Amino acid sequence: MTFKCDTPLSDLPETSRIQIRCTKCKSMRQTTPRDLMRVGRFSAHLKLAQLEDAFECDRAACRSPVTFTSFGGLNAVSA
Ligand SMILES: [Zn+2]
Repeated sequence: MTFKCDTPLSDLPETSRIQIRCTKCKSMRQTTPRDLMRVGRFSAHLKLAQLEDAFECDRAACRSPVTFTSFGGLNAVSA
C-alpha cells in the first residue's frame, strides 16, 4: 500500500498542499485538501488515490490523467 492509497482527504494537515500534474502536457496546479472538499465537492473520506483517478487535466484540449504530488506538511503523515 502506498501513502496515496492509505490516506483520506480528512487526514491531511490543513497546511498541506497538493500539486496536481498532468501526465501528458505537464500542466501543474496546486490545491489544498480544504479546497478539494469544498470547491471540488469531494467527500473527506476519499483516499488520495481515488481523487487522483477522479481528476483529469484542466486543459480542455488535453483531459489526460493526472498525478498528485503532496508536499508542505505531508511528510509527517507519510513518515
Ligand atoms: Zn494536460
